Amino acid sequence: TKLSRKGEWGFFNSGMDARLVETLRMESLLRNAIANNELQLYYQPIIDAKNSELVKVEALIRWNSPVLGWVSPAIFIPLAEQSELIIDIGSWVLKEAVEQASRWKKLDVNAPVISINVSVKQFVSREFEQLLFTTLEAHTVQTNQIELELTETLFANDQGELSSLLKRLYEAGFGLSLDDFGTGYSSLSYLSKFNLTTVKIDRSFISGLEIDDRSHSLVRAIIAMGHSLGLKVVAEGVETSAQSRILIAEECDYLQGYLFGKPAPSDTFFQLD
Ligand code: C2E
Ligand code: CA
Ligand code: CA
Ligand code: CA
Repeated sequence: TKLSRKGEWGFFNSGMDARLVETLRMESLLRNAIANNELQLYYQPIIDAKNSELVKVEALIRWNSPVLGWVSPAIFIPLAEQSELIIDIGSWVLKEAVEQASRWKKLDVNAPVISINVSVKQFVSREFEQLLFTTLEAHTVQTNQIELELTETLFANDQGELSSLLKRLYEAGFGLSLDDFGTGYSSLSYLSKFNLTTVKIDRSFISGLEIDDRSHSLVRAIIAMGHSLGLKVVAEGVETSAQSRILIAEECDYLQGYLFGKPAPSDTFFQLD
């Protein structure tokens, strides 16, 4: 169909039409997912490259819809980010992860830090900072047990406000991690300008590490730069022992990927040692 009948259904071709209907349906199902207990957090190990000890876990959301089956967060998180839905989901993730941190701490004083993905919209929302502190307080969890994973799109926001928020969280003792480093408009200047503790090298640079000299050079440069700025460096998506060996030789601090463990429910971590 041509674009001439704007405002009518004819505006869409049938492909767009079907996709729109599907998206709207998914969104309405997602709206009820929290109340219906369909969401769950999985945790993926992050190990210390020096001694292979489990030091951190990344919380990753899972949605098992009775109608749609398992839906990837790579699909439903971007959908939720188009509305205020991401605020509710983000608050649920925060509460759930902090409760888990509290339970693990009671079992083991060396319980891993929990790293939580925070959407930009959630992070810059007025309620976020308050909610963060009250949630930790309610479960007697210390700030150094929690890390927040942020993405570069964050820096499109008012940098003055952002800078002071990051500074307050940094000084309070939170880990502050820049996720997916190297994919977007990664500017090196952001790493030095804002209070961060960690940079995560995107999986796309790790997957070709053993065969691609360019990836190797880039990874080496990111690690060196991160260290010179006082940041810890995490490599994500480590799948082979060859990749792991290179990263250890390059003095990457932490490793995450299927080689060490896939994301799994919290009870699989019951014995932490
Ligand atoms: P991300 O934050 O970059 O998370 C890493 C993704 O890589 C996860 O996918 C993880 O399961 C996957 N992964 C880890 N190790 C390997 C590996 O060795 N090989 C491969 N091929 N993949 C690996 P997942 O769980 O499907 O999450 C996708 C994205 O959804 C996340 O990317 C993040 O952007 C978003 N997401 C997940 N959970 C949350 C959440 O609680 N809140 C928000 N705002 N976003 C979330
Ligand atoms: Ca332990
Ligand atoms: Ca992440
Ligand atoms: Ca990532």
